[in-house]
Amino acid sequence: ATPTAVMVATGKGASQGVLIKGGNALEKAHKVKTVVFDKTGTLTVGKPVVVNAVLFSSYSMEEFCAVSIATEANSEHPIAKSVVEHAKRLLKTFGSTEHVMEAKDFEVHTGAGVSGRVGEKMVLVGNKRLMRHNNVQVGPEVEKYVSEHENLARTCVLVAIDGKIAGSFAVTDPVKPEAARVISYLHSMNITSIMVTGDNWATAAAIAKEVGINKVYAETDPLGKADRIKELQMKGMAVAMVGDGINDSPALVAADVGMAIGAGTDVAIEAADIVLMKSNLEDVVTAIDLSRKTMSRIR
Ligand code: ADP
Ligand code: MG
Repeated sequence: ATPTAVMVATGKGASQGVLIKGGNALEKAHKVKTVVFDKTGTLTVGKPVVVNAVLFSSYSMEEFCAVSIATEANSEHPIAKSVVEHAKRLLKTFGSTEHVMEAKDFEVHTGAGVSGRVGEKMVLVGNKRLMRHNNVQVGPEVEKYVSEHENLARTCVLVAIDGKIAGSFAVTDPVKPEAARVISYLHSMNITSIMVTGDNWATAAAIAKEVGINKVYAETDPLGKADRIKELQMKGMAVAMVGDGINDSPALVAADVGMAIGAGTDVAIEAADIVLMKSNLEDVVTAIDLSRKTMSRIR
């Protein structure tokens, strides 16, 4: 495209809240045949809410909540924020006077959860993978609880104290109201949609079904997300990636067109070629349309 055509299209995009960083992204977007979506915060609202809490041990609900708060309070993950909020509310309900403790040796296990020491207790908070890696047994009762909730598109946060599962929080994160509409519109444009997520297979599949995506890659770490993009490109496809998190940035860079959700993290916004300022998935279509129109005008 001519510099003038790029300038006009970039200006038009900006006025609609679609920030296009330079001509290259604009010129590539019209070729996109596959759009890969991150799940949490991209297809979903990204404001998870705890809908259930359960104990699997002899710890009291107060102890369980206090330990969970102490550990998750150090995490930036939206799931952690929902756990802290819910556990605090539960403590209030019990009229508990237990003061909130602080976790020592806090560690983040990307794509899996967090750990720390609360008083004398070793605490792990996260998914089954985190438990497996730390040799914590997940018994049949816990498995049953987890799969029941996962099939309802919920994510279960497991809490282990001193190497044993103490309890769990079931977290729900509703899909964005426009998600299904955008996916079906992309399909009508002959563009394939794929989901890639760090979350587990069952939850991912349930969300994918809800929005009409029929290909899913779950339990994928940040570099794995980028690898999936590269595999698709090797088949000769131009690929767009839509994401919001730090964990999406390698994939955003690898994609032919990286699109960041405006409400996402700065790292994702920097890694992307296009920023969707309104955080509305309809603007994935806006961006591709803008590119198609610009490119057809010059040829
Ligand atoms: P996504 O790709 O869906 O944005 P992440 O890669 O950030 O997800 O995390 C993957 C999974 O790891 C989460 O779905 C959750 O099960 C677990 N997890 C990560 N951080 C935490 C945390 N602070 N507390 C509880 N669970 C966590
Ligand atoms: Mg995300």
